[in-house]
Amino acid sequence: MDALDRSTIWPYEDGEPGAFYYQRYGHPTGAAAERALGELEGGTALLFPSGAGATTALALTLLKPGDTVALAAGAYFGTGRLLGSFARWGVNVVEFDQTGPPPERAQLLWLEAPANPLLTMPDLAAATAHPAPVVVDSTAATPIHLRPLEHGADFVLHSATKYLGGHSDLLLGAVVCKREEEADQLRELRGILGIVAAPDPCWLLLRSLKTLRVRVERQTETARELARRLGGHPAVEIVRYPGFGGLISFDVAGAEAARRVETATNLITNATSLGGTHSVMESRHRWEGDRIAAGLLRLSVGLEDADALWADLEQALDQV
Ligand SMILES: *Cc1c(COP(=O)(O)O)cnc(C)c1O
Repeated sequence: MDALDRSTIWPYEDGEPGAFYYQRYGHPTGAAAERALGELEGGTALLFPSGAGATTALALTLLKPGDTVALAAGAYFGTGRLLGSFARWGVNVVEFDQTGPPPERAQLLWLEAPANPLLTMPDLAAATAHPAPVVVDSTAATPIHLRPLEHGADFVLHSATKYLGGHSDLLLGAVVCKREEEADQLRELRGILGIVAAPDPCWLLLRSLKTLRVRVERQTETARELARRLGGHPAVEIVRYPGFGGLISFDVAGAEAARRVETATNLITNATSLGGTHSVMESRHRWEGDRIAAGLLRLSVGLEDADALWADLEQALDQV
């Protein structure tokens, strides 16, 4: 079993600091979780206290004043807000359609596989042909469905709060680096800045990674079936599903209909976030405004029985 070590200090060895000496620079539970995630992605993983914290640390490592980040349009709302907040430090953000080639004048490319909640997939070949480093936020794909480093990406980002954690009981982020030098640089900056993950959520992540494959495969199987059935319901205008993973988004006729559906389910909880064992659904308009359709609902499929989930969705959709 994995040990949980909450120490903040470890004794020096023969008068010198060993592998672990002060928790901000590294701790055994975090290192074990990083090894497990690194193996899954095929790179060197570093953990952060949240996905947003991982994004902040990576942006501070890679960007300087005057740089432009080309960000996938329709990507996670919070990432656009976060990178946009760096405008005060002279960093620009331009959005682009990630299904095609990125804009030429960009020093960093930030993609999402698939984009949350519009569920487009990035053209990784077009992105990696660009000279700028490529970050793929692979939160929704998970390493079970995509290993971006094998497709030429330089960094993989995860909100481990979602599928990797998988139980809606931990907040963590991760960056997986292709090259050891960049991992060293990011690790050093992490220690200086103090954007570090505590041992407890790292221990929960270690627990969760053991079941990642069975959870994600089951969620994909159920989501595929639900996406198919949603496509046949008269109240549903469009279904977005990339063919894998547990995330579906679909549109009903406007904000009022979306509100009625999200509040009418019983088995599916009306809550935010995604990737847990329990299915959740929400209208995204309340957070993202006119960036997305007012009738868009995002469904994160959990581990419940597929027929029971469909019965719940169907009775909710029948009410509009
Ligand atoms: C949730 C999410 C994030 C942010 O992660 P937190 O753990 O909430 O900070 C980043 N990217 C995507 C795709 C997400 O869904």
